[in-house]
Amino acid sequence: MKEPNPISPLLKRLQTPEQKAAGNFLRKIGPLVFIAGLICTITAMVNFFSCFGSMEPPRLFWLGFIGLPLMFVGGVLSQFGFLGMVTRFVAGETAPVAADTVNYMADETKDAVETVAKSAAKGIVEGLEAGRAAATNFCPHCGFSVKANFQFCPKCGKALAA
Ligand SMILES: [Zn+2]
Repeated sequence: MKEPNPISPLLKRLQTPEQKAAGNFLRKIGPLVFIAGLICTITAMVNFFSCFGSMEPPRLFWLGFIGLPLMFVGGVLSQFGFLGMVTRFVAGETAPVAADTVNYMADETKDAVETVAKSAAKGIVEGLEAGRAAATNFCPHCGFSVKANFQFCPKCGKALAA
């Protein structure tokens, strides 16, 4: 049986091959275990009831003690296997919307990040310029403390080296 809906590429990426393999394994083994359990149980029942009226003891009645747990285990396994399929189907139905939302959010986020990055870069450049302006040098002629962006020494008036 093919799954009714193609799984979206996004979901395919989210689902690891191990998970898929486990799901396939459960879907295959679950019903088999359940059917084996059912056969054991039916055999035990038939044997039990066919022995009514006769002196023969129900020799195969013990199969019921294997069959019932097998049915239970098989049922649980199938449930897990098919549950995964159903979940994926439901997820596949809603995934396109989710993917659009993610893309939309990504675009918004991208813009926001870009703005923040630009602001940060601008801030850093301004900070560096301010820092450079605030940094002090010493006049090579008189040793007076001068700002880095000064061209002439405010004390001796001589040109400061670049
Ligand atoms: Zn000077």
